[in-house]
Amino acid sequence: MAHLWQSWLGGVSQSQPWFVNVVDVGLVVLVTYLLLIIIGERQTLWMVRGFVVLMLALVLSRRLGLVLLSFLLGYLVLGAAVAMSISLQSEFRRFLEQLGRGQLLQLFSASKTLVPQADVIGEIVDSVKELSQNRTGALLMVETGEPLDERDFSVPGVRINAEVSKELIQTIFQTSTLLHDGALLIRGSRILAASVILPISERSAARRLGTRHRAAMGITERVENCLCIVVSEETGSISLAERGILNRPLTSNRLREILQDRLSESVELEKVAPDLRMLSRKLFARGLNWMSRSLAFLGSSTSREKSRGRKNDS
Ligand code: ATP
Ligand code: MG
Repeated sequence: MAHLWQSWLGGVSQSQPWFVNVVDVGLVVLVTYLLLIIIGERQTLWMVRGFVVLMLALVLSRRLGLVLLSFLLGYLVLGAAVAMSISLQSEFRRFLEQLGRGQLLQLFSASKTLVPQADVIGEIVDSVKELSQNRTGALLMVETGEPLDERDFSVPGVRINAEVSKELIQTIFQTSTLLHDGALLIRGSRILAASVILPISERSAARRLGTRHRAAMGITERVENCLCIVVSEETGSISLAERGILNRPLTSNRLREILQDRLSESVELEKVAPDLRMLSRKLFARGLNWMSRSLAFLGSSTSREKSRGRKNDS
């Protein structure tokens, strides 16, 4: 194994200038660090770990000259990469968007997560139940993780910043009010905004639905850290959109169960996230340490080679 590692390092450093290799390794460390940061879920982390193991197995089988095995592993890695890019679609999109907006530093900073507690869930469910009985159309967006970015909405709506209460929610959705069109944004125990216009889902499954339901699907397929509750004006039915999928029709009791389940899950995840950030920071620090040592080693070996060359010349 040590021999293989040395031969790989040797092969790389001979074919290119040493600083190119150092930059290469540094970039790999940086990409790994960013990946660890954007992955907020334990399950996803296992998936990435499995993928890395597959890639290592592929490299090893190539080095050992196991033609058939490396052929098989090559296709497996390719298939796994495609499957991962599909299932991590929203994480990659968020990563690319932040990269495009030049907000790379935001990936490194931890933001505080606020999710509704049992009493707030109670107020939301009670209001939804009444709205459904009165056939008043409504759309409520509940954050389940890190704060949503206003730029994910088509129109950010009107800022409210008021305590969640069933009376306020019901009042806002009365058709006589100026704020009833669009969605409510709920973070923790506060209604942040009303009349928020959301991106509409373009999926074929959504095309037969009206715009309120398509808006709920649209925002939840775009961002993972929110749930969208819809009350239909036409039928009074209650639906819940999650990760782009509409779950309906629901009873108010079922809605309460799902909300309690998902929101307690996000509290659990928040407990895991600081460990992950700590782990990724440690990894980054070790990567830097390793890079500086490699730099020193490569520098000293180059000067040794030069002095040896000078001796040979003389
Ligand atoms: P319902 O079952 O209540 O009729 P629906 O899915 O059939 O709902 P529409 O009948 O088209 O949808 O509902 C129109 C209402 O949905 C609008 O008045 C507005 O309040 C809301 N709505 C439509 N588009 C959006 C959007 N992009 N973002 C937020 N809310 C929207
Ligand atoms: Mg309609």
